[in-house]
Amino acid sequence: MTAPLVEAVIDLGALDKNITHLRRTVAPAELMVVVKADAYGHGRVPVARQAVASGIRSIGALDLDTALELRASGIGDDVTVLSWLYPPGQDFTEAIRARVDLGVSSLAELTEVTDASRRLAGAEGFVPPRLHLKLDTGLHRNGATAADWPALVTAAVAAERDGLVRTFAAWTHIAEASEDEDTRALQRFLDGVAVARELGASIDVRHLAASSAGLRREDVRLDLVRMGGHCWGIPSFDGVTPSEIGLIPVMTLRAQVLAVRELGDEHAEAFVSAGYGDGVPRNVAGTCSVAVRGVQHPITRVERDHLVIAVMPGTELAQGDPAVLFGTGAEGEQTVRQWGDRSGTLGDEITTRIAARVPRRYLEA
Ligand SMILES: *Cc1c(COP(=O)(O)O)cnc(C)c1O
Repeated sequence: MTAPLVEAVIDLGALDKNITHLRRTVAPAELMVVVKADAYGHGRVPVARQAVASGIRSIGALDLDTALELRASGIGDDVTVLSWLYPPGQDFTEAIRARVDLGVSSLAELTEVTDASRRLAGAEGFVPPRLHLKLDTGLHRNGATAADWPALVTAAVAAERDGLVRTFAAWTHIAEASEDEDTRALQRFLDGVAVARELGASIDVRHLAASSAGLRREDVRLDLVRMGGHCWGIPSFDGVTPSEIGLIPVMTLRAQVLAVRELGDEHAEAFVSAGYGDGVPRNVAGTCSVAVRGVQHPITRVERDHLVIAVMPGTELAQGDPAVLFGTGAEGEQTVRQWGDRSGTLGDEITTRIAARVPRRYLEA
């Protein structure tokens, strides 16, 4: 079998190890694996399946199409699948049938949910959808403001009395930018939970933290921590390597040397079979490198279908040599976190933007 020109190798064994490590770290809080944006380019269905095999019982989907796709792919309703971002006028009928947990931020969304519940309520097998009522604690992304919160909770409690919903969870999203701001957000959230419970909501589960705060701070873990980045082995705070926080990068981007051109004076450049059409950011030129046979060669140009590296003096490259753009570091390559740092973005962004045309090859756990 010939190696593809470019491929993203997804190590499900590394994913399993990361998940196991993160679950132990956040316990007794539960770990939710967030697979939005196609699991940041790693592939939502294979990642979700591995997560479930690794013991995960909560998956964050962001949108309803992803949530329904996960259900259709065989993620059963012993696993919570949460969605929370909808266009106005969303029809929740399918979501309720598929037992998707629903993040709800406003009275308008709650009404859309209860309208669908009312239509389904008489039908056989109807189970009231579990709501995750979202409070805004300063990020202003979505979520009810503190002023709107009591009205949202009161309406949800009334719908629960009518058998239309369950007031299962309360949640928010914290900025993870400064410790003080996160501490204030935590306090605003706990105040909001107290208000909700006084108003009659059950709130069995409280969650607010993602990768960064969830790994660093015990006090923000509460009942559940939602993580994307750390599951794929991409540190989401500064100054640490993946291994220093017990993580293994899951994606390795591989290509091959297409041609070598001698430039005289013992200088040479080589063409490598991945370009910006594959999602390689153009500004890795001058900042990042590609490893070939254990040696890092600086990237000098990124074109659409290939990139160019300056061959390190004293090394010989040949057509067909395997080239590793980023990965775990085991073959001398940089990690995607290093690529992000050096090129002024996030490792998360780089894996997420690896193009759909790049085949994903899964290494089973
Ligand atoms: C993306 C997202 C997460 C996961 O964020 P990471 O920093 O990748 O762990 C958690 N919660 C919500 C609401 C998100 O949108």
